[in-house]
Amino acid sequence: MIAMNLYSVLFLAFLGLMWILEVWLARRQFRHVRLHRAQVPLLFQDHISLAAHQKAADYTVAKLQVGIASKGLGIAIVLLWTLGGGLTWLDSLWRKLGWSDLGTGVAVLLSFVLIGTLLELPVRIYRTFVLEQKFGFNRMTGTLFFQDFLKQGALMLMLGVPLAAGALWLMEHAGNYWWLYLWLSWLGFVFLMMWAYPAFIAPLFNTFTPLPDESLRQRVEGLLARCGFKSQGIFVMDGSRRSGHGNAYFTGLGNNKRIVFFDTLLESLNPEQIEAVLAHELGHFKRRHIFKNLSMMALLSFAGLALLGWLSAQPAFYQGLGVGYPSHYMALALFMLVAPVLTFFLHPLLTYLSRRYEFEADEFAVNMTHSQALAQALVKLYQENAGTLTPDPLHSAVYDSHPPAPVRLAHLQARGAS
Ligand SMILES: [Zn+2]
Repeated sequence: MIAMNLYSVLFLAFLGLMWILEVWLARRQFRHVRLHRAQVPLLFQDHISLAAHQKAADYTVAKLQVGIASKGLGIAIVLLWTLGGGLTWLDSLWRKLGWSDLGTGVAVLLSFVLIGTLLELPVRIYRTFVLEQKFGFNRMTGTLFFQDFLKQGALMLMLGVPLAAGALWLMEHAGNYWWLYLWLSWLGFVFLMMWAYPAFIAPLFNTFTPLPDESLRQRVEGLLARCGFKSQGIFVMDGSRRSGHGNAYFTGLGNNKRIVFFDTLLESLNPEQIEAVLAHELGHFKRRHIFKNLSMMALLSFAGLALLGWLSAQPAFYQGLGVGYPSHYMALALFMLVAPVLTFFLHPLLTYLSRRYEFEADEFAVNMTHSQALAQALVKLYQENAGTLTPDPLHSAVYDSHPPAPVRLAHLQARGAS
């Protein structure tokens, strides 16, 4: 039934190359982390114990093992959907109901995403209740996990139905340049979500309370004033409901901008260090990283949708990827499967940009606060999150959005000394 053609060969070649590179990089990372397990790097010897360093190494290795197993499973699932005939099977199942093209399309796309989510569920359960549990990070209960899953499902339906219907309508009615209109609508959707997320979506999963500590609040407001930054408030999020990992982030758009601290972060850092972490986050904003990341996303989705516009008109594209009957919704489903394989090869570029932004944000923080505070905060966060201090340089270059700890610390020390 499946006629192999150029598209099948290209698809299998990219998929195979991705898998070989992923396994090769993982093996390098295993070797590197194990090689440096016996000794804390010189720069950290005064701050991090050998036990903490070895816990970080074991955690990194364990995460990597689950990661590689999950990626292997992911590739098997992609092959089953495409060349294995899974998409054609799902399509014929819904077609039997005799609905309109639009109704069938929305049903196929949503059930495709739902089945994908269910297939990934065992890995998610394993990560939370075995891996994170073993290293003492999990705070999630079975009930909360199940509630989260239901809420995410409901949210996916509420957002997914109009999104899928809108995309299919444009593909049907907007002429040859439907992909251009789809791109514009997609950008609009992304901006809407960025604006709506802090006010309407995040509160479904967590509780946000205004920062209660008066002296810390004044310190933070002082920093905001020095940086000329206006926000809708500083909030504490009950991150400890789910995990022991700590973080701080920026969220929202325009008049809906907020600064969010995880309660776990506030527990582990002193006020001076918290101020430094916030200054780093402000650095991302002040150096226009958020705008640059959005522009990159817009550029990539433009290229992706232009490619889809062309591919969806080639009958051989569907045939080569195991789809019996070409349709707009099958083009979208195939795109969702193929896009991650292609973007994998962009990882080194995207992580390079991200690491450059991290250095710039660190520099901003050092100029705005005490240079030592950020370094202390980072060492503490690496320790508490059991992040490895000795990643393989090549693995790190492909995957890590943040520079390796020794490199980042060395940069900070150089700034602080000058
Ligand atoms: Zn950052």
